Amino acid sequence: MARREPGPFGVMELGSVADVPRRWLARRHLGSVVGMRLTMVGCSGSMPGPHSAASCYLLEADGFRLVVDLGNGAVGALQRYTALNRVDAVALSHLHADHCLDMCPLWVARTYAPEGALPRIPVYGPAGTAERIARANDDPDVTGAFDFVTLTPGQHRIGPFAVTTGHVAHPVETFAFRFEHGGHALTYSGDTGESPALVELARSADVLLCEAGFPDLPDLPPNLHLCGRQAGEHAARAGAGRLILTHLAPDCDPEESLAGAAGAFGGPVSLAAPGQVLDLG
Ligand SMILES: [Zn+2]
Repeated sequence: MARREPGPFGVMELGSVADVPRRWLARRHLGSVVGMRLTMVGCSGSMPGPHSAASCYLLEADGFRLVVDLGNGAVGALQRYTALNRVDAVALSHLHADHCLDMCPLWVARTYAPEGALPRIPVYGPAGTAERIARANDDPDVTGAFDFVTLTPGQHRIGPFAVTTGHVAHPVETFAFRFEHGGHALTYSGDTGESPALVELARSADVLLCEAGFPDLPDLPPNLHLCGRQAGEHAARAGAGRLILTHLAPDCDPEESLAGAAGAFGGPVSLAAPGQVLDLG
């Protein structure tokens, strides 16, 4: 896939790893990010797509590397942006397969690392996360690699990030996250239908990274996913600075989602793509 023109907001858009300059990759592995940096590792909705893993985002600041969601296929793509032994923490929005299943290969990587088993890292997730990952892994000993922390709505500290969480509207317990660092705020929707809590978490955020898992059809089921238009409406209600649509299902038309969002939100709107890097401050 050809490299795209730079996006209008300083977003670096890269179509495949073959497009990534070697020197840039090396810098990504060795360098320490100071300001808040978001890298789109996987943004395909509900399943991996032909050009993207399922949901996964790398959020960095002050040299700290937080992985937000780890869906199917994401551990492969994640290694383009960080060595797996350099991951400091994981936060899971919910326990659907397309947001958590690659905790299994991360467990393998950390348990059987060439240098020996790595220290446990914190994994923040809904109640039952340890049991869910143990079931998926068919091994109950996942706590040897991970220190599971049950999320509740409210304020948390994860590494250098001030994190506010809230429940959003999905068939299983699901959190949206507001990450703040250095005077900047990024809100990630998780999976959700229409949600006043998401609007509050995105209030005046620099960026709302919002799912748009549905096409805009009449009588969309409630409490499941948003379409592009609804994502735009949430960004407008929140007064977010910009909107990035993610969780784009392989069979959805992304341009339709983008047009729907742009019709509802007056600020800048773009589509997430694997390899995009966004520096906030
Ligand atoms: Zn889900």
